[in-house]
Amino acid sequence: MAATSHRRSLRSRRTLVVSAAVLAAGAGAGVFVMNANAGALDLYHQTLAAKDGWASSGTGTTGGAKADAAHTFTVSTRAQLVKALGSASDTTPRIIKIKGTIDANTDDTGKKLTCASYAAGTGYSLSAYLKAYDPATYGRSKLPSGTQEKARAAAQAKQSKNIVFKVPANTTIVGVPGTQAGLTGGSLQAKNVDNVIVRNLAFAATEDCFPQWDPTDGSTGNWNSAYDSVTLRGATHVWADHNTFTDGPHFDNANPKYYGREYQIHDGALDITNGSDLVTVERNQFTNHDKTMLIGSSDTDSVGKLRVSIHHNVWKGIVQRAPLARIGQIHIYNNVYDTTSLNGYAAKYSIDSRAKAQVVAEHNYFKLPSGAKVAKLLSGDGTGSVAGGGNLVNGTATDVVAAYNAASSKKLKTTVNWKPALTAGLETSAKNLLTGLVTTAGAGALK
Ligand code: CA
Ligand code: CA
Repeated sequence: MAATSHRRSLRSRRTLVVSAAVLAAGAGAGVFVMNANAGALDLYHQTLAAKDGWASSGTGTTGGAKADAAHTFTVSTRAQLVKALGSASDTTPRIIKIKGTIDANTDDTGKKLTCASYAAGTGYSLSAYLKAYDPATYGRSKLPSGTQEKARAAAQAKQSKNIVFKVPANTTIVGVPGTQAGLTGGSLQAKNVDNVIVRNLAFAATEDCFPQWDPTDGSTGNWNSAYDSVTLRGATHVWADHNTFTDGPHFDNANPKYYGREYQIHDGALDITNGSDLVTVERNQFTNHDKTMLIGSSDTDSVGKLRVSIHHNVWKGIVQRAPLARIGQIHIYNNVYDTTSLNGYAAKYSIDSRAKAQVVAEHNYFKLPSGAKVAKLLSGDGTGSVAGGGNLVNGTATDVVAAYNAASSKKLKTTVNWKPALTAGLETSAKNLLTGLVTTAGAGALK
């Protein structure tokens, strides 16, 4: 059983009993005072607990908890969400409650927008694009340029304007329990802002209608897409809690191939880059995705930042980057990694430590299908560290780093330059996580 959730549910049960008793006694106004004293704030006003990972550092993460009534919104459409978010530079605390599922690919009147809607008027067509940049005639030495690339960029800009939601500082965005709250086809972006909470939301189908061909990416070229479901760039004090991420209903195995390469329409699920820092990612479900979590966008992203705690998440049906960690001090504990193939998503590796990343990975539960190799749980470039013990593989205590290093030339370093201190809720046994997190992690688990 997940300790913190358990405590929370106990606490709300106690509060209910108290409230009922007080109500029965007819002491109406006292109820709220007693709730506040008991610490049982509603979902919308809860803040990150003390010492709960890197986001609790310093000023902590309170999101929009101090929002006044004028900055507390309940939204059910894309247009309402845009209005509630306001200006990206307005730091007034705000709470945004998402009720039900918002489809980002809708216009201001709620009408459904398709890829064709965005392409309309730009001159872009996939067939013309494919003809223009076919390596057989265009070659492989330079990036696409010219009429069709301009048209693609114009169409992509139209989609981006519609589906990217810029989150200002001091904001809590939270799904209303019992409403299947979430965002479909959208990308929440926290850029150069501090103090953001994202909770209880199901993120699905974040898709780029206009992937770009890059013939210079690797030896065979790649199709690159632009949108993460949640993207943190230069963001600090971020708490991502109890969300679910999935590509569904369009899985990667339905992607066509052009020029012999997968036409990838998905980017990351939750990427933490460009000097982002002090992030706690807890009790989320990451499912049905390839490149799931990038920490640091390049080997020179930002020294001294990229400090992230990742705990009590379920990673299931993930191909890679769970996470891919660069540079920062990253604590990965009490997660469940189920590496069984799911909907065509076959695991390449789970955790990659590179560019001198200082990863502590402890008390995680790895579920491997029969025949899978423990060495394939990790990856690295020979400069990254992974320290920490207490990891279980199919219930058995296993030194996953030793297994990886025994099979790899680019070995992981086993010491780190820090010791995690913000570890409230850390469980020193991973054995109950597999059953415990199934019902307590992800969107919809909070009541
Ligand atoms: Ca990309
Ligand atoms: Ca990304």
